Amino acid sequence: MRESPRHVAVLAFPFATHAAPLLALVRRISKAAPAVKFSFFSTAQSNAANFARSHDDENEAIKPYNVHDGLPEVYVFKGNPHEPVSYFLEATPGNFRSAMEAAVAETGLEITCLMTDAFYWFAAEMAEAMGVPWVPLWTAGPRALFVHVDAPVIRQHMGINVEHGLFAAPEDRTLDFLEDFATTRVADLPDGIISGCTETPMLQMLDRVGVMIPRATAVAMNSFEELDPTVINILKSRFKKLLNVGPFILTSPSSAAIPDEHGCLQWLDKQKPASVAYISFGSVITPPPNEVEALADAMEASGFPFLWSFRGNAEEKLPKGFIERNRAKAKVVPWAPQLQVLLHSSVGVFVTHCGWNSILESMNGGVPMICRSFFGEQPLNKRTVEVVWKTGLGVDQFTKDGTMKALKVILSSEEGKKMRERIGVQRELAVNAVQSDGSSTENFKTLVQTVTN
Ligand code: UDP
Repeated sequence: MRESPRHVAVLAFPFATHAAPLLALVRRISKAAPAVKFSFFSTAQSNAANFARSHDDENEAIKPYNVHDGLPEVYVFKGNPHEPVSYFLEATPGNFRSAMEAAVAETGLEITCLMTDAFYWFAAEMAEAMGVPWVPLWTAGPRALFVHVDAPVIRQHMGINVEHGLFAAPEDRTLDFLEDFATTRVADLPDGIISGCTETPMLQMLDRVGVMIPRATAVAMNSFEELDPTVINILKSRFKKLLNVGPFILTSPSSAAIPDEHGCLQWLDKQKPASVAYISFGSVITPPPNEVEALADAMEASGFPFLWSFRGNAEEKLPKGFIERNRAKAKVVPWAPQLQVLLHSSVGVFVTHCGWNSILESMNGGVPMICRSFFGEQPLNKRTVEVVWKTGLGVDQFTKDGTMKALKVILSSEEGKKMRERIGVQRELAVNAVQSDGSSTENFKTLVQTVTN
């Protein structure tokens, strides 16, 4: 009997940097299994951004479908990035269900696998009802996934009872009851583990992720086994299959490269080796005004050249005359080709919000970090960089003096040199993981089988 064609439904989370890595992974699977159809579901805005650049394969094998973004008909974004997320989550999973029905009707192909962002805990039941595998992609690091999975254990140790409302445990209490988490503090945990659990749809969702994700057929991750072996091994014992198949920047380099519209790389060519501070807080964050000012003052006073990828109106938000005064040693741009910037030999430090993609890209470039985290798993990533891996320094907030000190340590001290060496070792491990006999390559083969069989 001839097997029916495979049709994989891919459900993306359309905010921050989530849909792009999922699409990069789908493109890679599609190359390995060209006969399989992929229907990629995200909002119109997210699909427009991620499918903007042409890829030979996708017209045939990967088709984007738009799902409703859940926003009211008249909606004005007032600057709170969590608001559109809440509206979107209220529309799920209904918006996905109706778009999936349309894709099945259009293609005439039943869905044979559900690949989703790992945030979509509801896909466990959806996939079980459909009788197909569920393969979520966790787009952040292994430690963040672990604390969500082990949230009940953490709460129990902290004496917290979610049923009766949450209360905060001391911020400096460590998680020494979890293997390899002895230096992680309550303050480093994502919201919703200890505090604020039921406050927003996003936190409610994350809470359910920890409970549902062990039901997945396989969990894929944009990381590599050698980066955090103890935590990875514990997670492996909790899941049916855990497949670290990254870092995607090494496995799918073309999908990560972006054009250099503002001449950042040319500007970097003119700077001295390892002298430049690159500043960027990902796709959504601008620090509060007092910190933008303190950071700007520190950059101006420190004398180090810097490249700042600035979200929002830089002329308005930076101190008056700042851009003009610093023109000789600085460049402020609305978007930078970050991956290539961090690979440039002139960059000596990355001032970052500790998004997972940024951390992997810094590792890839061998660049130590100054970490100022904001929300979600960023504080945990910051703590890991500073205390576990020792490849950067953390700051609670930007102050002029604190930032200048951190810049000096990383750019012109022995300690900074050591950080650079350690992050260089991580880079080597990553490169080995994606070689033909590397762990990520082996895991990818299993992933392709799981998704397409
Ligand atoms: N990015 C970029 N240019 C910029 C700022 C960000 O290319 O000027 C990219 C960066 O390379 C990374 C992503 O945006 O791949 C940010 O992802 P991350 O997970 O670090 O943060 P998020 O956007 O999810 O907060």
